[in-house]
Amino acid sequence: MRPPRVGYTPRMNQTLSGGRRRGARTVYLRAAAAVLLAATLAGCQSSGEPVTDSSQLLGTILRVSIYDNGYDTRLIQDVFDRVSQIEQQMSTSEKDYDDTELLEVNRAAGDHPVRVSADTFEVLQRAQYYSRITEGAFDVTIWPLVRLWAIGSGGTHVPPQEEIDDARAHVDYRQLQLDPDAQTVFLPDVGMGVDVGGIAKGYAADEAARILGDAGVESALLDFGGNILVMGTKPDGSPWRIGVQRPDAERSRYIGIVRTADKTVVTSGPYERFFVQDGVRYHHILDPATGFPARNGIQQVTIVAERSMDADALSTSTYVMGLERGFDLIESLDGVEAIFVTEDRDVYVTSGVPDFFELTDDDYTLAGSPSSASQ
Ligand code: AMP
Ligand code: MG
Repeated sequence: MRPPRVGYTPRMNQTLSGGRRRGARTVYLRAAAAVLLAATLAGCQSSGEPVTDSSQLLGTILRVSIYDNGYDTRLIQDVFDRVSQIEQQMSTSEKDYDDTELLEVNRAAGDHPVRVSADTFEVLQRAQYYSRITEGAFDVTIWPLVRLWAIGSGGTHVPPQEEIDDARAHVDYRQLQLDPDAQTVFLPDVGMGVDVGGIAKGYAADEAARILGDAGVESALLDFGGNILVMGTKPDGSPWRIGVQRPDAERSRYIGIVRTADKTVVTSGPYERFFVQDGVRYHHILDPATGFPARNGIQQVTIVAERSMDADALSTSTYVMGLERGFDLIESLDGVEAIFVTEDRDVYVTSGVPDFFELTDDDYTLAGSPSSASQ
């Protein structure tokens, strides 16, 4: 009944009322390459063939592979149905949906609070938490800027400076009012809006894993367009092997391998959605401080964590914060590690990473700590 997938601007999307999607969209090659890469690496040493299915949702290709015996693709379809529901609740893409919970929230800005589903409320609460701990580098109210730039959904030019300034003036996570008792969301000023494109894919992956786990699955690989989540180990008991993608044009290559079990590996980079103007690449991760795509020498950040929602928010956050601030933030959090790749092809890793990551691409160099680099 509903075609697969969502578009990207506000790439995550979704519902209480259940949005209606308007039409399928272009899928990004990069995501497809990441899917293939992760699947290849993970599968190469496993014994039996997994049960696998894929779908276009959340602006990317989702692929779920179950390695335990006794399951079929009906369970994976349940997973995709759940992700589709999340998309219909949380999408802020007016191109894809007439109506979602978050479109309703944004349209009610300056006027009235909107009651949302428990899903949407939880994602907004977590997004607000990350907005706070990053002091607004991650900002859940980034929507006016995302809409203005429209990167990945038709935007091809740098907007006029006064429009950037105007949009930026409406971005401030501190104004977002979440009422846990009423489960309502309120934006006090017209022109404000929330966008969960930097975090909702992670939430969807966590939900997908929960559904599989409830059904008894112990060994599975979820690839949500490069957001990877692994359940358990490979069937032979060895860790999964996940390729960390190479951040340049070499789409099918990876710079190194993460070996892990029961974890999620999420990467943010400037290559997924962008346009080029006057030789400059403008990508979809925006710095609320400038109103422009973040530009600070970082080319890619990969986060390894327990929960995909956290890893998703933190990869976007640290990409905006830059190497030194981002590195310090990750080191201050328990159970989270990061691999930063700079434009100079230096790779900085937080303290726990050497236990599970192997750099395999000679074009890249493992560097020391970011503070020693800056001296
Ligand atoms: P990701 O690909 O997970 O790094 O998320 C990028 C998406 O997050 C963008 O497409 C926007 O929807 C949203 N976004 C962009 N910049 C920010 C920001 N500074 N804070 C929060 N969300 C952002
Ligand atoms: Mg993210």
